[in-house]
Amino acid sequence: MDNKIQVLPEELCNKIAAGEVVERPSSVVKELLENSIDAGAADILVELEAGGKRLIRITDNGCGMNKQDAFLSFERHATSKISSDIDLFALKTLGFRGEALASIASVSRLQLKTCDNEDGLGQQIYAEGGKIKNVTEVGLPCGTVVEVRNLFFNMPARKKFLRKEQTELGHAADVVTKQALANPGVSFRLKHNDRMMLDLRREKGLSARVSALLGRSLLNDLLPLERQNGDDLSLTGLISKPQLTRSAASHIYTFINGRYIRDRVVQHAIMAGYRHLLMKGRYPVVVLFLQLDPAQVDVNVHPTKHEVRFREQALVHDFIADALQQTLRPATWLEAPDVEVSEQINSITDNLTINATEKEPLGGVIRESVKSYSPPVGAVPTVSQLCEQEYQPRTYSAPAQPVPVEQYTLPGSSADGFFTGLQILGQYHQSYILCQDGADLVLIDQHAAHERVGFEKLRQAYSAGNIVGQALLFPEVLELDFNSAAILSDNLIELERLGFEIEPFGGKSFALKSVPQMLAGQNLSTLVVDVALELERIGSSGQIRESIDDVLILMACHSVIRANQALDQVEIKALLQELDQIDFKANCPHGRPVIQRMTLTEIERLFRRQ
Ligand code: ADP
Ligand code: MG
Repeated sequence: MDNKIQVLPEELCNKIAAGEVVERPSSVVKELLENSIDAGAADILVELEAGGKRLIRITDNGCGMNKQDAFLSFERHATSKISSDIDLFALKTLGFRGEALASIASVSRLQLKTCDNEDGLGQQIYAEGGKIKNVTEVGLPCGTVVEVRNLFFNMPARKKFLRKEQTELGHAADVVTKQALANPGVSFRLKHNDRMMLDLRREKGLSARVSALLGRSLLNDLLPLERQNGDDLSLTGLISKPQLTRSAASHIYTFINGRYIRDRVVQHAIMAGYRHLLMKGRYPVVVLFLQLDPAQVDVNVHPTKHEVRFREQALVHDFIADALQQTLRPATWLEAPDVEVSEQINSITDNLTINATEKEPLGGVIRESVKSYSPPVGAVPTVSQLCEQEYQPRTYSAPAQPVPVEQYTLPGSSADGFFTGLQILGQYHQSYILCQDGADLVLIDQHAAHERVGFEKLRQAYSAGNIVGQALLFPEVLELDFNSAAILSDNLIELERLGFEIEPFGGKSFALKSVPQMLAGQNLSTLVVDVALELERIGSSGQIRESIDDVLILMACHSVIRANQALDQVEIKALLQELDQIDFKANCPHGRPVIQRMTLTEIERLFRRQ
C-alpha cells in the first residue's frame, strides 16, 4: 500500500494559517499595526480603499528591515521577537508567532518596502499569493510600507463573506481606535478613499488621546484610576462615572500588557466593580490597562491573541473589581463640577485635527447618545423590577404610615460632608429635595437616596452578622400557599440571619416573631414571602453569598421613604446626613442617579438671560 500521509507544501500551510489570522481587512490592519508598533514607529498612516478590500497600505517610520530580514519576514515562523520558549513567557512585543506577514501574503498581492538605515536605500519585494515575484532596491526613508491589495483574490469562498465597504471600514477603524488608545505617544492617521477619517497627533497621555478619539465632553465623566498590587500587578486608565453609560459593552476597552484583549474574567471584574451602580442593560465606558508579569498570563491561546489565560484568575479578577470599587466608592465627583478638567481638556484639544463630519461612517468610533435609561426587561421579574413596580408610580398616594423621625437621626454629625453642606430649599412634588450648592441648583431623588442609604446600612450590618431584629408585640401569622410555605421552611436559617424570626405554626402557617428593625411597620407578610422567593431563586443558582445583596436591596426597597411622601426639614437634614456617611452615594442600588445638578448658567439660559 502507498503511504497516505504527506507533509503539506509551505504555501498551503500559510493559507491554512491565514484562515485563522486573516478574517477580513481589519485583521490585516491589526497585524500590520502591531508590527509597526513593535518596530518602534512614532507615526503611522493607514490608507484603505473600498473598506480595505481593494487596498490596505500601512506606512510607518519604525526601525525597518535589512535585505535579509525583509526576505525572511515572508517566511512562516520567521520572527525577530522571540528565539526560545523562555521568551514566550516574557513577551514585550505584540507579535511573536512570526506568521502574520506570511499568512497575509498568501491570500493577497503584497508589496513590502522597507529600509533600516538613514542612507535612504531600501528593499522592495512583491509577492502574489505568497510567491515572491519581484525584488528591487528603492529609495526610501527609514521605515516600512506594506501594501496589501485584493485581499482573498485567490480564495473566492472567503471573499464572498466580506461585507459592504462601510462595514469593513468600521471594523478597521475600530482596530485603529484600540491601537491608538494603547499608544497615545504614536500619531495615527486613517485615510479612506483619499478622505482623512482620523488624524491623531502624538499625545502625552491617555486623557488627551481619549478625548481626541471618543469626544472631549466624555472626559468630564471619566475618573482616573491607578492601582498597584505589589511589583507586578497594576491597573491604570479611565473609568466612567455611573451616570455615563452605553447600551452595549463595546466601549469597554481593556489592554493587558499593552495588548487589546476582550477577556471574560476582566469583563466580569469590571461589571463587578460597577455592581449596583448601573441600570440593568447599561455598560460603562472604560479604558483600562492591566500590567502584570508576562509569566502570569498566557497570550498564546488564540491565533489572533484576543484571548488570554491568567495563571491566577481569581487574584486578577478581585484586584480589578476592587480597584474600580475603590475609585467609585467615595463618589467625590458629586461635590464639584469638573471645571478644571474641562479647561485642561479645552487647551489640550485646541490643536485637535479630528474631522468631525467625516467621522460618521466609523461605526466603532461614533459617539452613542448617553444618559438615556431603559427600563429593565425580562420574563421573570427580578428584585429591581419588583421594587420598581411597587414604587415607580408618580401619582399621589398617601403614605400608609409616616416614617418616624428617629429612624433618620444618627449619632455624630458630619458637618463637613457634601450633602450636609447643601443649603436646603425645600421639597418638590413630595419626591425631590431641592438644594443649593454654591450657585448650582441640586435636585435629590429622595427615594433613590434613601434606598442607597438603607442598602448600605443593611449590607454593613449583614456582613457584621448583626442585622438587628425587633420583636413584634403580637406575632404575625402568615398563611401561605403550598409553594411559598415550602420555600419558607427551606430558608428559615438564612432568614434568621437577615433579621426575621419565623416559627412553623403547623401546615402552611408560620408565626413571624421578629423582623429587621428598619423594616418594622411595613407590610410584613408580602416582604417575607418576597425575600423567601428571592432566596429560593438565588439558592437554585447556587450563588447565595454573591446574591445576598439582591435580598438586601429588596429589603432596603421596602424600608425606605417613597416618592410622594412629605418630608419636613428635620427629616431632610437627617437623610442628607446619612448620605454623607455611606459609600456609592451617587446612585440607588438599581443604578438610578441620586442627584442632578443644574448650573446657574443652564438656568439663565432657560430664561434667555445668557
Ligand atoms: P511577528 O510580528 O509575530 O514577529 P510577522 O509575520 O508579523 O511576525 O513579522 C515577521 C517579522 O518581520 C517581525 O518579527 C519583524 O522582525 C519584521 N517586521 C514586520 N513588519 C515590520 C515593520 N513594519 N517594521 C519592521 N520590521 C517588521
Ligand atoms: Mg506581527
